[in-house]
Amino acid sequence: MTVPVRAPLLLSLLLAFGCNQLKALAGGEADKAKPAAEGTPAKAGEHGGEPAAEHARGADGTPSAQGAEDQGKKSAPGDATSKHAKGDKVESPQRFGLPFAHEASPSEPLARARGFLAEVLGANETQVAKGKGHFAPFIDAEAPRTTVVACADSRVQASAWDQTPENDDFTIRNIGNQVENALGSIEYGVQHLHTPLLLIVGHTGCSAIRAALGKSAGLSEPILGELAALKLPPARKGASAEAAMTEAVIANVNAQVATATQHFSDLVHSGELTVVGAVYDFRNELGKGFGKLQLINVNTNTDPTRVESFLKAVQASPGVAGKAADPNVEERVKKILERAQRAFPAARRPDVTVSSAQISASDLAAHGQGGH
Ligand SMILES: [Zn+2]
Repeated sequence: MTVPVRAPLLLSLLLAFGCNQLKALAGGEADKAKPAAEGTPAKAGEHGGEPAAEHARGADGTPSAQGAEDQGKKSAPGDATSKHAKGDKVESPQRFGLPFAHEASPSEPLARARGFLAEVLGANETQVAKGKGHFAPFIDAEAPRTTVVACADSRVQASAWDQTPENDDFTIRNIGNQVENALGSIEYGVQHLHTPLLLIVGHTGCSAIRAALGKSAGLSEPILGELAALKLPPARKGASAEAAMTEAVIANVNAQVATATQHFSDLVHSGELTVVGAVYDFRNELGKGFGKLQLINVNTNTDPTRVESFLKAVQASPGVAGKAADPNVEERVKKILERAQRAFPAARRPDVTVSSAQISASDLAAHGQGGH
């Protein structure tokens, strides 16, 4: 990310007008709230280096606005019952430190948070610069083309499989790319937004899978609870630890596809939904290249030959269902199908459904339907 000039300026203003001043204005303690940490470096987690959230709390722990209000009431002139009026400070001065003003080291969490936020604000300026025209197509409603269930791992991002994921990927992320833990969100994408594809993306080197394999020491109850739904088969006999790990990643994707296909079985059966399982292999453990998105499962079919056939069909039909798809394509496909069924009535099979997404642009051209 790049950092334009405006972001550091904003941060500088925020820093100059730090927690002390904000608190002092709210509570009328400008002269008494001088922080002990001011002028001296503060270490993260120590007085003066507390997180902003901590500073945003009042003496009784209430969130910022209410806390500031309470503080103001307590320090109101003539309020003989207030602690402040008796000379007691309601809060320790150390609570008024400037968390972003001083860092002993740029590697401290506060310094790193500030640095990353600067990049975030800078990167967002690029988005803002796109202007209304960029957002107009989806400003009122989203129309994603796929629901994605991916691992929350920071190394797994939609840009690996979709250069323009905006308004394209309805994405649900959790540790271990789990379906069962996120059925509400997934149903929203599949049944409410009607995405024709449910893409489940696992990845090599997945810590959630590693934990499910038994390396879960030190993990908290909430984390273990979220991993509990991961059901992995026992490791193959003779498999190295690395191979067992990769195979577990694959097994998990297959298990998630099975769960999803079962859950949406009506839609899968009617052809309205295709459930695809993939492994994003940024470690090249599957040998197809670093960063390869390897499709391993289609509607619970895992046989490599069948998956490969599906892949070839997919790759032979680029762009038909794309963002710039011909608006008349559905009508043209319908005519082709009607013509084909008239010509080959025996080919009518109730269990076979063909959608426009399965017919390529070249098919259209070959059938003389290339024009409008
Ligand atoms: Zn993961």
